[in-house]
Amino acid sequence: MRLIIRDDSKAGSLWAAHHIARKINEKAAVSDKPFILGLCTGSTPIETYAELIRMVKAGEVSFKNVISFNMDEYVGLPESHPESYHSFMHKYLFDHIDEPAENIHILNGNAPDLKAECENYEKAIEEAGGFDLFLGGIGEDGHIAFNEPFSSLQSRTRVVTLTYDTRVVNSRFFDNDVNQVPKQALSVGVATVLGAKEVVILAFGSKKARAIKDAVEGPYSHYCTVSGLQAHPDGTIVCDELSVGELKVNSYRYFKAVEEAEGE
Ligand code: PGA
Repeated sequence: MRLIIRDDSKAGSLWAAHHIARKINEKAAVSDKPFILGLCTGSTPIETYAELIRMVKAGEVSFKNVISFNMDEYVGLPESHPESYHSFMHKYLFDHIDEPAENIHILNGNAPDLKAECENYEKAIEEAGGFDLFLGGIGEDGHIAFNEPFSSLQSRTRVVTLTYDTRVVNSRFFDNDVNQVPKQALSVGVATVLGAKEVVILAFGSKKARAIKDAVEGPYSHYCTVSGLQAHPDGTIVCDELSVGELKVNSYRYFKAVEEAEGE
């Protein structure tokens, strides 16, 4: 695992957007095969998406040959609801880039058979060739996608129950009323994310500091599902100074030194 530590979320988001664009361009230069990209929602990726939109408009990258799969969606919330992840993705990314509509995949939280929806999603990812890169966020409790504490690190796409804590955190999008936040979601599993060739996780702000400490210095454990990244051959967490605030000084120095030696 490597940590990219930037002064603030803006700088971290630019790093992430430029990294993703570079990976898309590198594949396009040598192959006609589509780039398979995992995407997330939340406050955290918004600046990364804004920079990707700028890059598409400037002709620096194209999503014409990108196939994307989002990591999760609430169960029972209409797609047209402003806080559905369908709405979020269109507002902050898809409406502004050149990714063909048929390449966009988001779990249907209103499917008549939710289990079949999840199984078909896994099949579609496999048929597309598996993820080249998965972009994720991290919850305050260390969740990756909606894989709450004690989700199996071998989990696949399925119906999940959100913890009360996560619903409270997300209630800021639902008039600060926890009762309006759906209790269930469809989510890719930890193993679905870790099946990607490369995983890039964004974590900004002091609210993520405990989760970063658990993910980086804690054990490989279902207690903090992002810690599953410890077993991935190409995992990166992009942080700002605030989100690394709970790391040991030696850990911080180690990651800074690696970054300085490798450059990017
Ligand atoms: P956030 O959510 O980006 O809004 O902090 C991240 C998450 O819960 O995974």
